[in-house]
Amino acid sequence: MSATRIRRFGAVLAAAAGGTSILLFTRPSIAGNDRGPSPDLVRSQINDSKAVVPSRVVQESALIAANNSNPLDILVIGGGATGCGVALDAATRGLRVGLVEREDFSSGTSSRSTKLIHGGVRYLEKAVFNLDYGQLKLVFHALEERKQVIRNAPHLSNALPCMTPCFDWFEVVYYWVGLKMYDLVAGRHLLHLSRYYSAQESAELFPTLAMKAKDRSLKGAVVYYDGQMNDSRLNVGLALTAALAGAAVLNHAEVISLIKDEASNRIIGARIRNNLSGKEFDTYAKVVVNAAGPFCDSVRKLADQNVQPMICPSSGVHIVLPDYYSPEGMGLIVPKTKDGRVVFMLPWLGRTVAGTTDSDTVITLLPEPHEDEIQFILDAISDYLNVKVRRTDVLSAWSGIRPLAMDPSAKNTESISRDHVVCEDFPGLVTITGGKWTTYRRRCS
Ligand SMILES: Cc1cc2nc3c(=O)[nH]c(=O)nc-3n(C[C@H](O)[C@H](O)[C@H](O)COP(=O)(O)OP(=O)(O)OC[C@H]3O[C@@H](n4cnc5c(N)ncnc54)[C@H](O)[C@@H]3O)c2cc1C
Repeated sequence: MSATRIRRFGAVLAAAAGGTSILLFTRPSIAGNDRGPSPDLVRSQINDSKAVVPSRVVQESALIAANNSNPLDILVIGGGATGCGVALDAATRGLRVGLVEREDFSSGTSSRSTKLIHGGVRYLEKAVFNLDYGQLKLVFHALEERKQVIRNAPHLSNALPCMTPCFDWFEVVYYWVGLKMYDLVAGRHLLHLSRYYSAQESAELFPTLAMKAKDRSLKGAVVYYDGQMNDSRLNVGLALTAALAGAAVLNHAEVISLIKDEASNRIIGARIRNNLSGKEFDTYAKVVVNAAGPFCDSVRKLADQNVQPMICPSSGVHIVLPDYYSPEGMGLIVPKTKDGRVVFMLPWLGRTVAGTTDSDTVITLLPEPHEDEIQFILDAISDYLNVKVRRTDVLSAWSGIRPLAMDPSAKNTESISRDHVVCEDFPGLVTITGGKWTTYRRRCS
């Protein structure tokens, strides 16, 4: 393996709002590698209310036209949050960009999240107890991004109060102090201050909250704020905005092999199959960005069959319950379940979504929620609610695979990162993976 470069991902700075009428982006100024249309021109293209996203035929033709003597600057593999964020960022810098997604945009992990834009209260807890500066930095950056995403896409995201119920006074003090620290770390990126509510006030704010759990009576709740977003629409918004900024963006188009220049041993493009028509074609690019989420290793293997895996898949399941399970504008956190995981219960499109993350899993194309995982969520929330929680109330369920990333040269899994990792372990092929939806556009440090 050639020298492996790992560094925190922050290169993706673009942000966009979905929908068709208002498409916004923020783009930092970078020196040196800008060329092509000026940011002002790209901005006017994106904000032009009469602008139309070019057709599929046009997008495919642009990818085919990128031949060996006229390569793209960047070809992105994967149309999730990471890939679309990269494509938008690069296009708004005036680079010639292509992006291919083998299914539909956001069909992978990016539409299967908890839909929170958050700093990660749990990571802050780890940062404090393990004196881990890396975790603290992660929370700090994510809180900065939380504010930015809400600012960029106010029609697809909002601040959401989340309640942490407390059944003894120690819990009240513990969560109050912890969430005040979360406010403090957020600093000027704070959404709203957290605060304590008495048991009576908590019951008024969250009418289905149990006044007693496991023989302990409710002492109150600490309410803090994070962001909530429509993950799949935000992702499609990024793809469309990238297309408006000039990127050739094609869904149902799969990279089936990589093209290598034998003389320089460099990846210089990819063979792509249009999964709707079956047509295959080659697209050349100066750099190929592998943003295939949990499938990053499959793409890396196209470059080198013997490459060491870097993805440590971790799955999470969510279920949708009827609206009466939770009030419209308030989430609930079950901070301690029987195996120590957190369960979220959040209002979502007129229903309630409940879920948890972080189970070991294998990587499959269509991850399915298992019955024991659904039951685990139902058991966890039933302790905290005064309504009968029934299996028959589950309206739908899904599972997603988090592409946690590990340094390929690391000796053990302790180096699994919650942040993005950028790795160029094959010349011309840059892999970007790991991290959270929240931090998809984070600046390079
Ligand atoms: C259960 C769960 C809950 C989560 N909750 C949150 C949350 O609340 N907040 C938060 O910030 N983060 C959350 N995350 C993390 C977040 O969802 C992910 O970090 C993010 O979505 C990863 O995006 P991605 O683009 O890297 O991967 P993906 O969204 O999986 O995108 C990769 C894409 O690549 C495509 N692809 C693969 N191979 C090829 C190929 N050969 N050719 C073309 N295309 C290909 C796939 O089809 C896929 O669409 C959660 C994750 C999970 C699993």
